[in-house]
Amino acid sequence: MKEHPVIEINGLQKTYAKSKKSPPKNALKGVDLSIPKGSIFGLLGPNGAGKSTLINILAGLVNKTAGTAEICGYDIERQTRQARASIGIVPQEIAMDVYFTPLQALELQAGYYGVPKKERRSEEILSALGLLDKKNAYVRQLSGGMKRRLLIAKALVHNPPVLILDEPTAGVDIELRRQLWAYVKELHKSGTTIILTTHYLEEAEALCDRIAIMHHGEIVANESKSSLMSRLDKRTLLINPSSPIIKIPSKLKGFDISINKDGAIAINYESRKNSISSILDKVKDSGILINDLKTEQPDLEDVFLSLTYSTNS
Ligand code: ADP
Repeated sequence: MKEHPVIEINGLQKTYAKSKKSPPKNALKGVDLSIPKGSIFGLLGPNGAGKSTLINILAGLVNKTAGTAEICGYDIERQTRQARASIGIVPQEIAMDVYFTPLQALELQAGYYGVPKKERRSEEILSALGLLDKKNAYVRQLSGGMKRRLLIAKALVHNPPVLILDEPTAGVDIELRRQLWAYVKELHKSGTTIILTTHYLEEAEALCDRIAIMHHGEIVANESKSSLMSRLDKRTLLINPSSPIIKIPSKLKGFDISINKDGAIAINYESRKNSISSILDKVKDSGILINDLKTEQPDLEDVFLSLTYSTNS
C-alpha cells in the first residue's frame, strides 16, 4: 500500500486583506501539493512567490482563506493539536530569548509542547547538534552558527515526523552551511521528512530529492529533482579541435554552432532530436579532427529561470 503523504494540500488559498498601503493580495491561488513521507523536499521560488505564506499556514501562524491542508493525515483546522505536534518549524529569523541557556530553552519548548519530563531528550538533541558542551552557556554567548543549530534543536523537542526549515542557511558562511546540510542529512536518515525553503539553488540541488517551484502563488513544477533537471532538453557539445578552426564548415551549418574565444566549437542541441553520435559523425565528415570533447547540461538554475523568468518582476 502506498504510504500516506506527510503533507496534503488541496485548493489552498490566501488573500491578505487590503491595507492603507496595499490592495488585497492573492498570495496563494489554489495550491495543490502533496509531499511524500521520507523525502527531502525543496520548496523554491522567487521572493514573494508565497512560500512563507504556505509554511506559516501549516505552522498555524497565518489563517488560510480557503482550501484544506493536512499534516500526517491531521487537518490543520479540525485537528489543530495533532497537526501541530506533527511538525517542527525552524524559522528564518534568529529571535531567541538570550537570557536562557540552550538546555533551558529546550526544556521550555518541550513544556510548551506538553512533552512529559520523563520523555524529554534535551541533552540528546543538544548532543546531536554539537551543542552539549554549551548547554549551560547563555544564548547571547553563542556564535551565529550555534544559534542556528539551537533553532533546529528547539524544533525537534517534540520529536516531530516532519521538519520544516525556512531558508536554513540564509546569510550563513560556506563551512557552516555544509555542517547544517550534514545535520539535515542525518535527521533524514533517521526517518524525519524534511521540507526546506531556499533560494540557494545549489542547496536544493545538493540536498533535495523532490522539488516544487512556486511562482505568483501557484505551484509551477513539482517532481523529482532528476526529472526536473532533465526538463530542459538543451545540451551543449564542446569540441576542442586538433587545429584551430576559423570558419564553421558548411557541413555543420544546420546546427546552432559557434566558435568560442578559446577556439572550442560549441554545438547546442536538443538530446531528444539529435544523438551525440550523429552530431559527431557530421563533425568528422566536415574534416575536423577532435582533440578533446565534453558535454554541458543545464542545471537547476536554468530550469528555475525557465519556469519563473517570463513573468518575474
Ligand atoms: P515568499 O516567502 O515566497 O517570499 P510570501 O509568502 O512572503 O512569499 O509573500 C507572498 C505575497 O504575499 C507577497 O506579494 C507578499 O508581499 C504578500 N504578503 C505576505 N505577507 C503579507 C501580509 N502579512 N500582508 C499583506 N501581504 C502579504
